[in-house]
Amino acid sequence: ANDQTARAARLESLGQLAGGVAHDFNNLLAIIVNCAEFIAEEPGEQKAEDLARIRDAAQRGQALTSQLLLFAKREPARVENVDLNSAVTDANDLLGRTIGASITLRCTTYGAALPVRTGRGRLDQVLLNLVINARDAMPGGGIIDVGTDLVEVPEGSILPLPPGSYAELTVSDNGVGMSAEVRNRLFEPFFTTKSAQKGTGLGLATVYGIVIDAEGTITVDSTPGIGTTFRILLPIVAATAETDSTPLSGPGNGAR
Ligand code: ADP
Repeated sequence: ANDQTARAARLESLGQLAGGVAHDFNNLLAIIVNCAEFIAEEPGEQKAEDLARIRDAAQRGQALTSQLLLFAKREPARVENVDLNSAVTDANDLLGRTIGASITLRCTTYGAALPVRTGRGRLDQVLLNLVINARDAMPGGGIIDVGTDLVEVPEGSILPLPPGSYAELTVSDNGVGMSAEVRNRLFEPFFTTKSAQKGTGLGLATVYGIVIDAEGTITVDSTPGIGTTFRILLPIVAATAETDSTPLSGPGNGAR
């Protein structure tokens, strides 16, 4: 019965998701169609501007659908052993370009590999979503700290995790922070406080899904006017475990 309730809730959230995505997508397609219609008759400078607009709208469309695919898991999901440190180091460059000049990105990684069981693309999604949210929380500029570490969860810990070794990822900002209401609804699909152009409300729902599938936890610590820290713990897998990609299955898949 519990399973069915989870299923129904999931179907309902997918329905909401489809509605919201259709709406956003329609807006993006309208931009593309309009710009394309006028472009043939335009002088050079205007042409370049409209082409850039088409590209931007198409890119936002791509981001939207790839997030949706990930959330709905229509894409055949592959899991492998991925080093959290390499993911952070490799993403550093892209992230640096994404956040803009008024924001400093600092990365501190643990001194050895932190192999976790998820997908490389998934870790990139997690990092990108958390860093973009941190950027959006600091309109006047600030500092984003991304860190990794090795954490031992002992027997009888208050964390809802079995004892063992975990890879920790923290993303901190000194931005606007959140109210208790926002904190409570953060992981809901479509919950956003951003404008329709900027936010889909899918970012943290996606992150949550990825973390749960990897049998980890995500917590948030936030104070209005001070800043926010997201903390993710993912179980470390033995470095000798097979690294083949296999379809995602197992606990945590149906229930979110
Ligand atoms: P989106 O970014 O599209 O709004 P998310 O699911 O990523 O969707 O985030 C949901 C909401 O959580 C955001 O609209 C914002 O209000 C809040 N939020 C997320 N990260 C932060 C942060 N680092 N600082 C302040 N608020 C945040």
